[in-house]
Amino acid sequence: MDRNELFNRLMQLENNVSRIHEDMQELKSLTVALVEENVALQIENDNLKTLMNQEPESTPVEPVSQVQEEKKAPQKKQRQSREYFATLYREGLHICHDVFGKHRNGQDCIFCMDILNDKL
Ligand SMILES: [Zn+2]
Repeated sequence: MDRNELFNRLMQLENNVSRIHEDMQELKSLTVALVEENVALQIENDNLKTLMNQEPESTPVEPVSQVQEEKKAPQKKQRQSREYFATLYREGLHICHDVFGKHRNGQDCIFCMDILNDKL
């Protein structure tokens, strides 16, 4: 094997490695996007299930029960959003304002913790 061929093969190998690295980065960000979408869909699914289970109860029959429903609603909503934020954080996403929904890459975030402690 002459020197030129050796250099050519080394350069080829270097190109392949950098292409693999690029593919790797692309796959990584795709995976993060998919996980984020999956979490969002899971939460939406849970919310829809909760709504479906509530349906028969919340059919307004008389004005009095309607007023009661309205009184109960904010509390229920607050609890749901608490669970929503806690779930998002547990799944590894930011819930703090600046980077909401972005992946935490396994690191704790003091801003997210502040929000969680505030809400829980
Ligand atoms: Zn955060």
